[in-house]
Amino acid sequence: MDRKQTVLIVEDEKNIVDILRFNLQREGYETLEAYDGVTGLKLILEKQPELILLDLMLPGMNGFEVCKTVRDKGINTPVLIITAREAEQDKILGLGLGADDYITKPFSVRELMARVKTNIRRQTMASGQSAPGSRLDFGRVVVDKGAGIATKDGTDLELTQREFDLLTYLASNPGRVFSRQELMERVWNYEGYVGDVRGVDVAIRRLREKLEDDPAQPKFILTRRGAGYLFQHD
Ligand code: CA
Repeated sequence: MDRKQTVLIVEDEKNIVDILRFNLQREGYETLEAYDGVTGLKLILEKQPELILLDLMLPGMNGFEVCKTVRDKGINTPVLIITAREAEQDKILGLGLGADDYITKPFSVRELMARVKTNIRRQTMASGQSAPGSRLDFGRVVVDKGAGIATKDGTDLELTQREFDLLTYLASNPGRVFSRQELMERVWNYEGYVGDVRGVDVAIRRLREKLEDDPAQPKFILTRRGAGYLFQHD
């Protein structure tokens, strides 16, 4: 039996921590708590949780800085950002902080728990063993699904988990156009998602910045206006 999966809660509002702890433990997770960013970062490094729930506005070191520091250290633990304002979503996904997901306060506990499970499951799958035939080789671009690495011209693109999942999904079906709605459901695992799909556009933009020779003139990930996105290779 594996050890229990651990979720670290980094949040300075005690009542929210209480709600999160209660629900996470009821779902069988171990929990760790930090009420400021510096302590949160320390626990991430020492305890290596399976997932980090990260509030943005924290005393001392804020959530943006925590997330960026974690990624700069090469730690790819899923980070689910808790934000007070919907308007921050582009900033969260677009800043290149490497956050995997975000949820807006006040959040539904049921939705939050679904996101926690989804993000941990994705991470677990990505770190699984390499299987034969799990490489998508397009010449310049190679996606190694087993190893969880994508390269261009032999260089690791250093994608976040989400960017890797997105590229893998598109590249598994070259030439096929996927709608943003479809990508939100398949890559983000939001079954029947009816909300804002701009997060897909932001993730595509980030992915292009790493993948394309010229992100303004993409050659691998193309936009079909009004339809969606597709992967193509030469
Ligand atoms: Ca706060």
